[in-house]
Amino acid sequence: MRMVLLGPPGAGKGTQAAGLAQRAAVPHIATGDIFRANVAQGTRLGRRAQRYMDRGDLVPDEVVIAMVMGRLAEADCEDGFLLDGFPRTVAQAEALDRRLAGLETPLDAALNFEVTEEELFRRLAGRSAALHRSDDTEQTIRHRLEVFAEKTRPLIDYYRHRGLLIPVDAIGPVEEVTVRILDALAAKKAT
Ligand code: AMP
Repeated sequence: MRMVLLGPPGAGKGTQAAGLAQRAAVPHIATGDIFRANVAQGTRLGRRAQRYMDRGDLVPDEVVIAMVMGRLAEADCEDGFLLDGFPRTVAQAEALDRRLAGLETPLDAALNFEVTEEELFRRLAGRSAALHRSDDTEQTIRHRLEVFAEKTRPLIDYYRHRGLLIPVDAIGPVEEVTVRILDALAAKKAT
């Protein structure tokens, strides 16, 4: 299974991705987690990414693309992967397509997590308090949602045009959302 997860920050991608990846026995590649680990370790990549992350901006495409392409070249990605938080721009999606076309291993699906803005604020405010993420202050949350609308939302059409988009109603208990995803994936497979 080769899949990407789309959706605004706070849509629950990470929670679902971990379970789905385990079920499909493929690696869960969360770009935000990789960046945060690099920041925590003080690597060069972490130092480069941190100022963008703290502002709620996207890390430049060339940095993210190089990092993800390197990760996808690792042996555990041979039979599939679940990308969580990548792509976030059309340039990133095109880079991923080029790579997968070269390997003749196209994507199977792009799950699009749909959540109302009101629900997102409620969730992100809760996460901010619980995790002390420096990019979850109210002003930064607002900015991240704007960046999503401008840079990432166009990917919904990008994947719809390619017949890969699976919309997911991401409001409700985690287990219910999981069931909706598994049903939608099974329905897509059957077509
Ligand atoms: P996340 O945990 O997915 O919300 O990511 C946290 C932060 O990492 C984002 O706000 C961005 O600054 C950065 N980041 C993660 N993935 C990407 C990406 N695909 N493109 C650009 N920046 C990213």
